[in-house]
Amino acid sequence: MSLSEDLYKELIIEHSQNPGHRGHLEHPQVVEEGVNRSCGDEVSVELILTDGVVSDIRVNGRGCSISTASASMMADSVEGMTVEQAEDLIDNFKGMIVDNREVAFPDELEDLEALKGVQKYPVRVKCATLSWNTLEQALQKAVKL
Ligand code: ZN
Repeated sequence: MSLSEDLYKELIIEHSQNPGHRGHLEHPQVVEEGVNRSCGDEVSVELILTDGVVSDIRVNGRGCSISTASASMMADSVEGMTVEQAEDLIDNFKGMIVDNREVAFPDELEDLEALKGVQKYPVRVKCATLSWNTLEQALQKAVKL
């Protein structure tokens, strides 16, 4: 196994054991739920947009380590982004995992590459993309408010 594969595994374990952005917002603008039936993963995304920027996000739920780690990385990544930046990132992330697209993330987001290996396991793809799809739906609702 290559060094980067080891590092990637470490990152996924770290995020799944100690996921970030948990808990609840006092006044979320949008709460969106997502379920991945094939694995039993559940996720709930709470969101506040301020002037078109994702100013607060919380992600809760339960599921396998891939879905939990992916949700944690997703929340870490998009907080502080504009809706447009977040949508671009969702597109890139799903492109990497679903379409096997070559994606270069900026340095501060390169942890996301840790999930790239999931593309080899079609069953796990849904685990990794669940929170991102749920975020996408939450954003679509939030911009209409
Ligand atoms: Zn799963």
